[in-house]
Amino acid sequence: MPTLLCVSILVPDAQSALADAAAARDHGADIVEFRVDACFSGSGDEAETLDILRLAAESPLPCIITCRPTWEGGHYDGPEDARVALFERLGTGDAPPAYIDAELAAYTRSANLRQKVNLAVDHPKQVRPVATRLILSMHDFDGRPADLSRRLAAMRAEPAAAVHKIAFRARSLRDNLEMFDVLAERDRPTIALGMGEFGLMSRVLAPKFGGFLTFASLRPQDATAPGQPTIRELLDLYRFRSVTRTTGVYGIVGWPVGHSLSPLLHNAGFEAVGHDGVYLPLPVAVAEGGEAGSYESFKATMLELIHHPRLDFRGASVTIPHKENLARLADEQGWEADTDTSACGAANTLIVERASDGRLARIRVANTDAPAAVTSLADTLGEITGKRIAILGAGGVARAIAFALAMRGAEVIVYNRTRDRADGLAQAILAAGGRASAGDWAALPHARAHAFVNCTPVGMKGGPDPGGSPLPIRELASRAGDPCGPRTVLMETVYNPVRTALLNDAPEVGWRAIDGVEMFVRQAAAQFSAWTGRPAPMALFARLVRESLDR
Ligand code: NAP
Repeated sequence: MPTLLCVSILVPDAQSALADAAAARDHGADIVEFRVDACFSGSGDEAETLDILRLAAESPLPCIITCRPTWEGGHYDGPEDARVALFERLGTGDAPPAYIDAELAAYTRSANLRQKVNLAVDHPKQVRPVATRLILSMHDFDGRPADLSRRLAAMRAEPAAAVHKIAFRARSLRDNLEMFDVLAERDRPTIALGMGEFGLMSRVLAPKFGGFLTFASLRPQDATAPGQPTIRELLDLYRFRSVTRTTGVYGIVGWPVGHSLSPLLHNAGFEAVGHDGVYLPLPVAVAEGGEAGSYESFKATMLELIHHPRLDFRGASVTIPHKENLARLADEQGWEADTDTSACGAANTLIVERASDGRLARIRVANTDAPAAVTSLADTLGEITGKRIAILGAGGVARAIAFALAMRGAEVIVYNRTRDRADGLAQAILAAGGRASAGDWAALPHARAHAFVNCTPVGMKGGPDPGGSPLPIRELASRAGDPCGPRTVLMETVYNPVRTALLNDAPEVGWRAIDGVEMFVRQAAAQFSAWTGRPAPMALFARLVRESLDR
């Protein structure tokens, strides 16, 4: 049976909850969950109960009624007897809901609740015709419960449960893999979902592993659990209906990755070329222990994803702060690395090739930032060989671009705020056989170059100097003479916003400018081709990035 898409609604009152349920149906949901714990007080007010019976009767979709108590993360703090009586009225009424949800802890602790719930739901020993079925659930908002196996065994021992639900806060991507193992071992329909930002993978990939349903909210602010995506995100961004057992898994590995545009591009690209894949944010936090800790958690996560027997993990974009970690891991594991990765010691792309039976065939890494920057620049500047190119910054992107340009015959001058790092990068390029030198950051106004490439975050939204510009273009351009004349090329790597202060200055002095979207789209396109074997839909990528940044 296909995995159901369930919109969860925290009910303020019956009228607005029914309107939301109709909207959920119109957006493509299969089922709704009415979380009545915020509107049911258990005070004995008959109007409250009638409202909830009305929800079940008038719901435009099959529904689950849940009255989550505070001790399991919900809002209900009334008497347990009233909650039990509500379940009984629902299950034995004229218009019963498709499901009621009861917590394993309550069900096993209270003989009264168990008895009343069993009267209200369909199960093998039920003697009356009852339509409602029981979802037996457990939640942990802190993390994986230490006694998860014991709780699963307790659930499996309950014949009245038609569906099992396990939800706990995922503390890392690896917790999702345990969710998938729970689904693989299920003895009846099962929901296994990770909460929080690390758990998104389990929500999107539920159809791949046969999950009974996944939850979504109608609007971002209406999420009923941490990390719950909206129905639009699930259907439009992650193409939930296209995820099947055979779907390959890709993603962006970094920390943080929540605002990355890469899922938008690659999922739309997969759709455009008909590739059976889904692309997810894959946050890998920087563990305590600095650089060593960061490498160890990155390594452990990547190897688990790659070697998981059913995940079909096929590749990743890798971003800050793990690009060096990927190059190091490839070296350690003996994976192939392209020449740009070997030159600069950082990679942004993992390609996991598999045989048709899913077995690992070949793993390689690449640095697509480097050729993306080189081709973006060459399209405007022409031949790279012999050109004098100033690089602003000496961080990860500066390193990849400076090496790539030097290895293609350019003379590179590195300007960096911290002079030592500029010297270090220039020396590393010289040691690799390239032409490079370092310049003083303060000497930038006197620089002479055919092209300037900004590899600092100055000008970036949310960066250290959002409105600023790292280069005094007017001052530079006022000095007559080649090569800093009107034919000078300015390349920006910052792409959010598309028009930085630096780019705005360029046309005034006649410089030719390349914005950061150019490089971003090209590096993504090269990743896409490496994974799918097909040319990337470049125009679509560029349109999506620009539209998204404009918004
Ligand atoms: P990084 O490793 O943190 O390096 C940042 C560099 O910028 C360092 O050299 C740093 O100098 C310098 N810097 C930071 N703040 C500065 C300031 N206020 N004034 C002057 N210099 C400053 O970062 P990265 O990974 O190289 O990324 C740099 C930028 O590249 C990002 O902001 C991003 O927008 C862009 N990027 C673009 C693409 C694309 O495809 N278009 C891809 C990746 C990244 P110190 O050594 O003195 O600290």
